[in-house]
Amino acid sequence: MDVCGSVGRKSTWEQITFYVETIKQSTTIKGLENYGLSFSEAMGAEGVHESVHAADPVEVNRDIRSSQPGQKKLSEFIYERKARLMEAKFREELKKNKDNQNEKRKL
Ligand SMILES: [Zn+2]
Repeated sequence: MDVCGSVGRKSTWEQITFYVETIKQSTTIKGLENYGLSFSEAMGAEGVHESVHAADPVEVNRDIRSSQPGQKKLSEFIYERKARLMEAKFREELKKNKDNQNEKRKL
């Protein structure tokens, strides 16, 4: 489970839960990845992260297999790797877009 969200799953549904107050707070605390983002930008980043857990076929398949009785639990590093990578890419894109807009303003 992540600090800002989690994914619940049964065979016929998936549910993403966002801890909205935690996400709001995370935009105001220096040193956290959401620091300085607007609430909707932070929600976007958390959404990208949780959607990897919920919808990426490889991730979902591995997660379901490892949760079967007798299977070894995935390490947090393996479980979080792709979700964190995609979240980081989203933040890079956000930053690039902001930098581009700032450059345009200077012209
Ligand atoms: Zn995660």
